[in-house]
Amino acid sequence: MKNSFSRRNFINTTATIGTGVCTQSILLSENKPSSEFPNINPKKKVIKTGFHTDVKYLKHLIGKGHPESPERLKAIHQQLKISGTAKLTTPIKAKIDPLPYISQVHSDEHIQRVKHAALDESICSTAVSGVLSAVNKVCSGELTNAFCAIRPPGHHAANNGPYGFCFYNNIAIAAKYAQSKFKLKKILTVDWDYHHGDGTEWAFYDDPSVLCFSTHALYAFPFSGSPNRTGVGKGKGFNINVALPRKATDKDIITAFKNKLIPAADKFKPDLILISAGFDSRKDDRLGDFKITDTGFEELTKIVMELAHKHCDSKIVSMLEGGYNTQGLALAVDTHIKALLKG
Ligand SMILES: [Zn+2]
Repeated sequence: MKNSFSRRNFINTTATIGTGVCTQSILLSENKPSSEFPNINPKKKVIKTGFHTDVKYLKHLIGKGHPESPERLKAIHQQLKISGTAKLTTPIKAKIDPLPYISQVHSDEHIQRVKHAALDESICSTAVSGVLSAVNKVCSGELTNAFCAIRPPGHHAANNGPYGFCFYNNIAIAAKYAQSKFKLKKILTVDWDYHHGDGTEWAFYDDPSVLCFSTHALYAFPFSGSPNRTGVGKGKGFNINVALPRKATDKDIITAFKNKLIPAADKFKPDLILISAGFDSRKDDRLGDFKITDTGFEELTKIVMELAHKHCDSKIVSMLEGGYNTQGLALAVDTHIKALLKG
């Protein structure tokens, strides 16, 4: 790691408040106009990309100078406004009571530990609610896909209390929610954060209904994510860890997606794809040493979208995990959402 921030530290404090972002959908022509009916294009598909955020997330303070700071979301909001991307998205408000679904993943003891961790637990539960609301909109067909600019992140959270800047495992709860609410049988989680999604792996390690794919650095926190960890029992073969080398490039991660993710996903045939979109794998991050560029993230997004087109009517819900170079994070998120907007 490049600096001395410990993920076990800085997890006590916080506060509250609320709102969302902007709107508009775009039309993309799937087919050229028919020669028989030159004035009619019957297969225009409306691409609607949702965007969830909440001002509450700006109140989540871990500690002075901590990399998981409100500045991350402020930079994202500013970039999306400047680039014009924000106004192309449809706002999603956090409207679903998350507690019954948090309980599907986390124990009462864990929830109590989050509540007693000297922070405002309502911020953590709002992040879960926001992601569930995005899943609701996408699975009901109201939106094609969605991105959730949330804090705190979630993919390290298991049942041991707050861990690795994470409190509730947003993506794991979203997968369980999609299965229980929409009766979806198979969920694919894709995690391109610099750090291994150990909490997500934990949640589904024996579960063949959720295929977990994670690319990460083996030599960094949480020091898990061996490719030998492939699942257990009925879940054997449904956990895919890809350890990338130090200073991994676009080519390294794209090759992993092409060689490992695509064939596994084609065999699995997911009903919904969820992304743990961590951008600490981007070049110049404060906590990572990978060299992934924004073009690389665009390519990864396109690969996941191709899978979604093929298997699940384009349904993707992506949520923010890490990313600690605020300006770099903002540019990468902008690129990611622009790719999602192309349907
Ligand atoms: Zn990370």
